Amino acid sequence: LRGVLPGRTGAAASSGPSGDDDAPADRYADFARSALGRKVVPGLGLPDPAPLRRDAPGAPLAPGPVLVTGLVPVGGGDAAPRDAGAAAAAAVAAAGARVLLPGDDDGTERLGGVVVDATAARSPADLVGLVGALAPRLRRLARGAHVVVLGLDPDRLPDGADAATRVAQRALEGFTRSLGKEVGGGRTVQLVLLSGGGAAGLGGALRFLLSGRSAFVSGQVVRLADPVGDLPDDDLARGSRPLEGRTALVTGAARGIGAATAQLLAARGARVVLADVPAAADVLAATAREVGGEPFVLDVTSDLAPDRLGERADAVGGLDVVVHNAGITRDRRLRNMRPDAFASVLEVNVAAPLRLTEHLLATGRLHRGGRVVGVSSLAGIAGNDGQTSYAASKAGVIGLVDALAPRAAEVGATVNAVAPGFVETRMTAAVPALNRQLGRRLSSLGQGGLPVDVAEVVAWFAEPASAAVNGQVLRVCGQNLLGA
Ligand code: NAD
Repeated sequence: LRGVLPGRTGAAASSGPSGDDDAPADRYADFARSALGRKVVPGLGLPDPAPLRRDAPGAPLAPGPVLVTGLVPVGGGDAAPRDAGAAAAAAVAAAGARVLLPGDDDGTERLGGVVVDATAARSPADLVGLVGALAPRLRRLARGAHVVVLGLDPDRLPDGADAATRVAQRALEGFTRSLGKEVGGGRTVQLVLLSGGGAAGLGGALRFLLSGRSAFVSGQVVRLADPVGDLPDDDLARGSRPLEGRTALVTGAARGIGAATAQLLAARGARVVLADVPAAADVLAATAREVGGEPFVLDVTSDLAPDRLGERADAVGGLDVVVHNAGITRDRRLRNMRPDAFASVLEVNVAAPLRLTEHLLATGRLHRGGRVVGVSSLAGIAGNDGQTSYAASKAGVIGLVDALAPRAAEVGATVNAVAPGFVETRMTAAVPALNRQLGRRLSSLGQGGLPVDVAEVVAWFAEPASAAVNGQVLRVCGQNLLGA
């Protein structure tokens, strides 16, 4: 599996903000999606890289009605969702999708999504209710449908919860991660954990997880905590531009994932400052023009970077969103590693983001309601042959999230990170062909992601409605089989 996760090539900039213009063709996916492939692939149990349902302007939340159900007791009985399920149903309806409750489901319609409220599970035996809730409905899931299981955060159960409750709620994780590997057809499955019994922030999470914005996220656990500030009442009114009135800065934004992120944040209404190194100044200017943002030449590792960032933040009236996307690799096995190469990877990928975030927090330049987003990697979770420096730096980004999220919460801000898996960029074009195939296929969705898939997660963290999402690391990897 050596090199299955992408490393950096040092290649020149790609030609567009999507960053995937030069990504190699996925010929297997082309075949599997052909008429012949659709007949052959399922029968042989081959990977199924079904087209993903990505977001598009005016797209509905889900490709059909969304069933919201509770656990179904063995032998039948009341399957009505509990409080969390009722909150979910209200949020889904508010987002414009038709809600089906168990009593209204005549078993005939194709489902665009399912939300299962499992918060009532108090013992392992209660989990059998998941079978009744989901098994008969899986065949009716539309292609690209998303399933969300609601549970209680086992580490933050209400006072007086017993061990059996904790066991049952913890068990939901294995259930969801396994179901994600079964559903196929570009479908996804996630677990949303509520804490303290409240459902604050659930609406924003469901609008992301049921929609095409989370197309390349599957088998993941999202924890909702106490919101760090007020959740916006007017969020739905903002429609497709939830970041209107906010200012975002993205580092490493000249190309690739950073450029796609800048583009998406701008499309969602943000004023965007795009930062990159002096050597990339020309491409940076072109990308900034293309996305309607402002170029800012900045090497995040320079001694002056905190002060220059501060000045720039002042010039734009303070920052609401900071995305630490700039990253490098200097891949070598440890026995051949030079200390200066190892140091440079740590410096760009984690030391600079830490220094800059601490500076922004200490000087009050991150507005109340601010959002800091780090970019980790699957390598930081699973490790990768030849990537001790990179994996250390990307695991360090997770440490940054853990360390700074509580501090940010004190000023009404959040710190989260995205952990991409195999993303189709110029970088992955340089991965040897066999490893490229493994990187794509060894995942539940059977394909690589696009830069916009990572950008979508960043944009979701950035939204005002994500105030209950803090201290999280969300993998966007098509449920890659590597790592936890
Ligand atoms: P990329 O190499 O295409 O872009 C990285 C950008 O960061 C470049 O424009 C580069 O000039 C800039 N940069 C590097 N050092 C900088 C510095 N000191 N100051 C400012 N800017 C600097 O890479 P990408 O594929 O778009 O990756 C973006 C992020 O996503 C990185 O942090 C990377 O580690 C991470 N990531 C990528 C993948 C993938 O599959 N492409 C997977 C996991 C994680």
